[in-house]
Amino acid sequence: MITDIVRPKTVTEAVRAKTAPGAAYLGGGTWLNSGRAENVTTLVSLENLGLGSIQTESGRCIIGASVTFQALVDSPLVPSALREAARLTASRTLRNMVTVGGEFGLSPDDSAVIPVLIVLDAEVSVAGRKKLLPIESFLDENRTGLVLGVSVPAQAAAAVSAVSRTSHSPRSLVAAVSARAAAPMLDRPRLVLSDCRGRRVRLTAAERKLDGAPIPSRQDIEALARAEFTPRPDMHASVAYKRYMAGVMVADLLAALISKAAR
Ligand SMILES: Cc1cc2nc3c(=O)[nH]c(=O)nc-3n(C[C@H](O)[C@H](O)[C@H](O)COP(=O)(O)OP(=O)(O)OC[C@H]3O[C@@H](n4cnc5c(N)ncnc54)[C@H](O)[C@@H]3O)c2cc1C
Repeated sequence: MITDIVRPKTVTEAVRAKTAPGAAYLGGGTWLNSGRAENVTTLVSLENLGLGSIQTESGRCIIGASVTFQALVDSPLVPSALREAARLTASRTLRNMVTVGGEFGLSPDDSAVIPVLIVLDAEVSVAGRKKLLPIESFLDENRTGLVLGVSVPAQAAAAVSAVSRTSHSPRSLVAAVSARAAAPMLDRPRLVLSDCRGRRVRLTAAERKLDGAPIPSRQDIEALARAEFTPRPDMHASVAYKRYMAGVMVADLLAALISKAAR
């Protein structure tokens, strides 16, 4: 049971406070206050650390850990695919609470924001680390430490889509794509699929095949996506449905990037 909250004034104080048994960093509290964080007794608030800003600098968009999903949606500085991913949390009440830092701390299986950050080659700022961490390294390292923020290219061609039974249901599938350029050929494409049940994969073989080559037929793109994706089922979507939709979604998203770039 949560019995205490501390409000450190510096990052060093926050990191020290988190070493106490039962302490957890507080983002929007949507998960911490949901009754599932059974061992948490003390919340370490991040409200006085100045992590709530969105800025652009040297072609990068720098987003603080305390930025909410609604602030992402509202900011014209944020790449459109990331705004769209945040908007996929359909409840505005939740969007006003959920923070970027909390999304990293929890890394929910059905996150739409994390696949987009992966295709954008995001870099994560973690307290005590001099260098920014590539997002895939951060996720591989079991997400330890206090996340201070994330940096993404300010101008990026990227797109995201998701499957869920209703707008407020847990998602069953998320697809995200990006490319440094999309016309006349795909340059450095990034493709990520998530089965929303713990399998989040980068389609590296498909990326290699598509990079700098003539754009294959829609059918071939769908087959490339399905070849690297072995999803788990859930109560709303079977394995066959997820694999079928994964191909369709990747082909649709790439077609959208290509047609936008050709305009
Ligand atoms: C009822 C319910 C409905 C939900 N619905 C949705 C939904 O519609 N869409 C959606 O995307 N998600 C949803 N979630 C999942 C989840 O709550 C959020 O996605 C999000 O990941 C939590 O963000 P938060 O800021 O509220 O985190 P918190 O609950 O504050 O924290 C989550 C975890 O992250 C850690 N943490 C917080 N900030 C940091 C930081 N800066 N650095 C390191 N660790 C940190 C915390 O210690 C904790 O372990 C839902 C959860 C519940 C319980």
